[in-house]
Amino acid sequence: MNILIFGPNGSGKGTQGTLVKDKYDLDHIESGAIFRKHIGGGTELGLKAKEYINKGELVPDDITIPMVLDVLQNAGENGWLLDGFPRSLVQAEKLWEALQNDGVALDYVIEIKLPREVAKARIMGRRLCENNPNHPNNVGIPAIAPEGDTCRVCGGALSARDDDQDEAAIDKRHDIYYDEETGTMAGCNFYKNMKDASFKIIELDGEQSIDEIKNYLVSQLD
Ligand code: AMP
Repeated sequence: MNILIFGPNGSGKGTQGTLVKDKYDLDHIESGAIFRKHIGGGTELGLKAKEYINKGELVPDDITIPMVLDVLQNAGENGWLLDGFPRSLVQAEKLWEALQNDGVALDYVIEIKLPREVAKARIMGRRLCENNPNHPNNVGIPAIAPEGDTCRVCGGALSARDDDQDEAAIDKRHDIYYDEETGTMAGCNFYKNMKDASFKIIELDGEQSIDEIKNYLVSQLD
């Protein structure tokens, strides 16, 4: 089973992706995480990638594409869930070309749709519990709004992550994601507009609750 997942930062892609990955026991391949591993390990690739990542820019294709294709080729036999790649039209085209050449079937393309302003409000509304980072608190989502200034789960003190409050950085990431000419949306549309595609497209409404999205997603998977 091989799956692509698209969704802007703030759409719950991580949560839904984990569900899919667990259901089929897939390798979760996240381009951002691969870069972070290289950076942590001090590899040459990591050093090169770091300067772009720190500026919030995309790492150039001559580094990113071969790196991701290599990881895909070495994935486990159950297949993969690819997250964070493709992030542009060119990456989408190159990935498709490589899959065709290698005779690898794509099974699903999942897209979590969320308006840009909603995604931004969600990111800026995230609050981190001092006791447990997995306690969900978000001042922008009524279902998981904090209890006053404290964690809705345990009453712990809350804080906001610095990068969640960096509006310019959020805008930069979303500029890339929502770009329908050459950006991530263009890459997503490349797959969605494909004629006679053998994979199934699943569109999720990111404005629904986590459980509603989950239930719908499960109903769409075989
Ligand atoms: P992420 O963890 O997905 O937010 O990725 C962190 C950073 O890694 C991004 O801001 C980019 O600089 C870089 N990156 C991740 N995936 C890609 C990609 N497909 N193409 C280019 N750069 C990427």
